[in-house]
Amino acid sequence: MQPWTAGPPPRLEIAEGAERVRAFDSAAGRLVEVGPTSGTARMYVCGITPYDATHIGHANTYVAFDLLNRIWHDAGLEVDYVQNVTDVDDPLIERAAATGVDWAELAIEQVELFREDMAALNVLPPRNFVGAVESIPLILDLVEDLRHRGVVYAVEDDHPGDLYLEQAADPEFGSLSHLTPEEALPVFAERGGDPGRVAKKGPLDSLLWLRHRAGDPSWPSAYGDGRPGWHVECAAIALEHLGADFDVQAGGSDLVFPHHEMSASVGRLATGSAFARAYLHSGMVGLDGEKMSKSRGNLVFVSALRRSGVDPMAIRLALLSQHYRDDWEWTSQVLSTAEGRLARWRQAVALRAAVGAGDVLAHLRSALATDLDAPTALAAVDAWASASMATDGTDTTAPTLVARAVDALLGVAL
Ligand code: ZN
Repeated sequence: MQPWTAGPPPRLEIAEGAERVRAFDSAAGRLVEVGPTSGTARMYVCGITPYDATHIGHANTYVAFDLLNRIWHDAGLEVDYVQNVTDVDDPLIERAAATGVDWAELAIEQVELFREDMAALNVLPPRNFVGAVESIPLILDLVEDLRHRGVVYAVEDDHPGDLYLEQAADPEFGSLSHLTPEEALPVFAERGGDPGRVAKKGPLDSLLWLRHRAGDPSWPSAYGDGRPGWHVECAAIALEHLGADFDVQAGGSDLVFPHHEMSASVGRLATGSAFARAYLHSGMVGLDGEKMSKSRGNLVFVSALRRSGVDPMAIRLALLSQHYRDDWEWTSQVLSTAEGRLARWRQAVALRAAVGAGDVLAHLRSALATDLDAPTALAAVDAWASASMATDGTDTTAPTLVARAVDALLGVAL
């Protein structure tokens, strides 16, 4: 698939002795250094299932990990960033059926909307933006590798021939989410899993290949016509485009289990190596006291905000005003605060002369290198903007310098 277009970010003066970027690894349960000291950083962020694009929860995730992309770029690294699009899966097919549209057309339309939203939010595009459908040959190759390793079986029940991964073959299963089997089962059931399917060897075994059902799209394979499971999809795309043991696997915190746990398990069983070195997760965004979700019908869409005249940079600043790992509430107040901040920053960088930019750049770099702490970064720019507007500064280079730093590191074009 074609990614969207944004960037590249302006190059800033080289940071001497730049801090290594540290971020919270859900598997380790603490901050760890992420990315190499030189060369290429490899990141995979799980993409959308294209039927509710792009709500604020999605935008929150992609803007969060865009900060990591930017701070890595700033440290002189190349970033190999891969994002998938789950353009065939149950929720997409169900939504298409419920609304009487063709599932493939719904996917195309929603992916296009997502691309527009990401470009408007100035999210740096992935190097590889990869759909599940176009990856079916890769996925089938991975299933075959797993089969050769003796960890795949077909169920025999009313729908015989569906292929599953034998989770018991992976002694490290659970090392990301740290859930006990008793804790894992209800979460698996709630998030698209099928722990109750009695023909499976283990209740947490994950689906690799779903044999064709009436009315479902399907593709031919050596195991019969069907379509791929979600976890093996991401594992196949990541391994193909990044290789095993890549730097960061990221997504919303609702992906920790089962999706990231199971993708990592597929990767380990297929390659014998670690899947990713660190697993980063963004918090959930709620609305009016409730989790934002399609079932509650309380989604706020980036495209609707844009259509109503909201500046996408204000949306981005609203997202950045919260720490990416926190769960928080989207309110009109969060947005109006961001609009006020954007206006102040624009006024300050439009001054002919301002107070010296001093340590603004160093503060931005240090905040982002410490678990992508955007609120602290915003405070540093706020302080400079307030001081510049309150006093007659004499530094004529400061406004441009701050504008470039804010653009490069925070992705906010002033
Ligand atoms: Zn994924």
